[in-house]
Amino acid sequence: NSQTTSQTLIDGNTLAAKSLVAYGITHMFGVVGIPVTSFANRAVAAGIRFIAFHNEQSAGYAASAYGYLTGRPGILLTVSGPGCVHGLAGLSNAMINTWPMVLISGSCDQNDVGRGDFQELNQIEAAKPFSKHLGKAKDIKEIPKCFFEALDSAVLGRPGGCYLDLPTDVLHQTISESEADSLIKSAADVSEIEKGAKKITTASLEVERAVDLLRNAERPLIVFGKGAAYARAENELKRLVESTGIPFLPTPMGKGLLPDTHELAASAARSLAIGKCDVALVVGARLNWLLHFGEPPKWSKDVKFILVDVSEEEIELRKPHLGLVGDAKKVLELVNKEIKEDPFCLGKNHPWLEAISKKARDNVSRMEAQLAKDVVPFNFLTPMRIIRNAILEVGSPAPVLVSEGANTMDVGRAVLVQTEPRTRLDAGTWGTMGVGLGYCIAAAVAEPHRLVVAVEGDSGFGFSAMEVETLVRYQLPVVVIVFNNGGVYGGDRRNPEEITGPFKDDPAPTSFVPGASYHVLIEAFGGKGYLVGTPDELKSALSESFTARKPAVINVTIDPYAGAESGRMQHKN
Ligand code: ADP
Repeated sequence: NSQTTSQTLIDGNTLAAKSLVAYGITHMFGVVGIPVTSFANRAVAAGIRFIAFHNEQSAGYAASAYGYLTGRPGILLTVSGPGCVHGLAGLSNAMINTWPMVLISGSCDQNDVGRGDFQELNQIEAAKPFSKHLGKAKDIKEIPKCFFEALDSAVLGRPGGCYLDLPTDVLHQTISESEADSLIKSAADVSEIEKGAKKITTASLEVERAVDLLRNAERPLIVFGKGAAYARAENELKRLVESTGIPFLPTPMGKGLLPDTHELAASAARSLAIGKCDVALVVGARLNWLLHFGEPPKWSKDVKFILVDVSEEEIELRKPHLGLVGDAKKVLELVNKEIKEDPFCLGKNHPWLEAISKKARDNVSRMEAQLAKDVVPFNFLTPMRIIRNAILEVGSPAPVLVSEGANTMDVGRAVLVQTEPRTRLDAGTWGTMGVGLGYCIAAAVAEPHRLVVAVEGDSGFGFSAMEVETLVRYQLPVVVIVFNNGGVYGGDRRNPEEITGPFKDDPAPTSFVPGASYHVLIEAFGGKGYLVGTPDELKSALSESFTARKPAVINVTIDPYAGAESGRMQHKN
């Protein structure tokens, strides 16, 4: 119908922006420059919020965490060549953590490939190891299809990182608006996302077997991780735990799916719970290093694992006693339904529960005795207790906690209390340091009703400290608390006899400038900075900044010789 057809021409930048909007994308993170500045501007004009960073690495970490928090693909936009390479940090982080993300990079003109074009790189090859899907729009007409495929792939099945390449010449090509609209429509028509994407492959027989195993176990345990958090399985987990009375153990980022304060929480008796359980239902958590590979000596050699995972590959890799493939929320619904037919419950006086709660009480009271002391100069525990209490006082909606560092993260994991799902973001499966500021920014834009509190080592903070300007620019409600002990792991711990050679007088590889004024950094941009070294100073800084809900950095002076090298992972260093 040529009379009503609009002949207005649009270019690849506009079509790319329209495709994102058509898919339902509302946020993008990135750094603009040649050739993607117009794309970012068109996306903003089309209603997408573009959060502009200083470095693609932080923006990429933000995109990965945004994907986790929202269940929608996190988008990172970068320029070609070096911009894409910086962005690979975020893409790899998404891939390893199994979070949905799409890295969209501009790339050089297709006609100039191989001739040393500006920022030329074979970006498809570079992104390959970190992508579950690679796409390249070789012509403007391919843009909508390429976008929908990459976005679908990021969230379908096991979520992960995807890469999409947009050559400069394609961004500059034009087509009529009506053709563009019909290309978007066809791409949306074949999009798989609405078509039972979260299918369950588990058979009812397996659900019955799983329930029988739990019912007949003497020492059952439910372990859940960030895959269960991603699946939003909190209500199903609550029902399962509370109807059966089975104790539970969250992984670090599973914390909060059920409150840490729940009477069936086994976190404070972790070694006993995993060492002695005979049947472990593991939901959305891999039996990788974080769970000691599910092997002795940490686990009993006879433990029967029931794994619930959306990835069949993961279940095949671990060879559990029983595997249930499917979305955690859906699988647990079936498990709960099966239990309801013939309910069972351990009951408060069950010896397994008594053993766990006794151990947990003992460990908690030992820890509380340590925490109760006001140690100045600060060790890690005193400020962590004060922060814990300040966060709990905020109430609901609970703040999102971002945590990284060696000792800071280890101590924080034990001391800080998570009461709501998906409120903890940390170094994750890959132990990625430098994620802090990106995660803060992602959390603040994904969960605008929540305060965001980062508890970071000074080394972790330093990776992306410049992004405090981004916090101020967007006026995000983020309070970054820096545990400043003057270096990676803190002071120089070397044996003086081993320090020889022409550079022996250099600062230690683990050292930073002592007493660095990190709080002044944010003041350079108009944010609020605090320097604190005593309990009263810390309490007052927390109370003021939590109330203000404006960007702030609290620089906490920590004794450089408190804590341990490599935190709790000394055996690996
Ligand atoms: P943690 O670090 O908390 O132990 P992992 O990242 O190791 O968690 O494991 C998360 C697991 O969850 C991954 O194996 C992933 O395939 C799985 N997963 C992701 N999404 C879902 C989902 N919707 N339902 C069930 N499992 C999921």
